[in-house]
Amino acid sequence: MKMLKMLALLLAVLMILPAAAEEEEDEWSFIDLSGEPIVTYNEVEWDFPIDMMDMEPELVRLANKQMFLDEDFKPAGLVDVKELRLDDEGNNKNGGVRMVDGPWKLRKECAEALVALCDAARAEGHELYLKSAYRSYYKQAVMYENRVKKYGYDDGWVTKPGASDHQTGLGCDVVPKKWTDRGMNEDMAKEPETQWMAEHCAEFGFILRYPSDKEEITEINYEPWHLRYVGKEVAVYIMENGLCLEEFYVQLTAAIDDFLAAGGPRYLVEDFIQTSAEDQYSRY
Ligand SMILES: [Zn+2]
Repeated sequence: MKMLKMLALLLAVLMILPAAAEEEEDEWSFIDLSGEPIVTYNEVEWDFPIDMMDMEPELVRLANKQMFLDEDFKPAGLVDVKELRLDDEGNNKNGGVRMVDGPWKLRKECAEALVALCDAARAEGHELYLKSAYRSYYKQAVMYENRVKKYGYDDGWVTKPGASDHQTGLGCDVVPKKWTDRGMNEDMAKEPETQWMAEHCAEFGFILRYPSDKEEITEINYEPWHLRYVGKEVAVYIMENGLCLEEFYVQLTAAIDDFLAAGGPRYLVEDFIQTSAEDQYSRY
């Protein structure tokens, strides 16, 4: 009996030891090669212009005609943008975000960045208005169905439910004052407010989600008013390189594939790997 107990104990120790060693190995480390700091994870190099730690999987999430969000997908940390309009202390919040057709909700980090963007624009004489922000799957479904009913077919201006960037809680339509009560079209790009936005949005973590030269990739008409929050590092990279989010995701996926093929630990990258919920919604 005693022998058996000892044998069991020995077996348990043998099973725990390699697991513990493996865990330690998985920790990431910084290694300086050829003067440039290169980040490696578990000795595998992360070969991408942006470090993994400077990206949030949720912030680079795609919602488009190939990558559908689930019916139940609701972004975490939605806040009422209105609450961020004025700072009680009067600090640094010169009016915050002006809104039309609100109240609007956005993910907290996006809402705060939008306040900063609007304040900076105002300091340079540009008044911006938030015209649309988070839309739930169901709100998008109603909008889509109404549009199709009105025109008798899908004219491409209202996105199907699950495929709207607005469902991420990170997409927002920001317009100059004179566009607050008229139909939006690409002429808005000529306004000084919109030009300021295109030039400065990346400084606040935003990109132009639907650029004029990417309509074939995004499958969405040019929308100079639609900003998408992705975080500062990603935004600067995307805007400086003239990409759209779809192209960024292709690059990111290639880096993830290389990382995994070289033996990088999957748990570090798996939150960046996206799947589409499209099949569930074949009715559209
Ligand atoms: Zn929009």
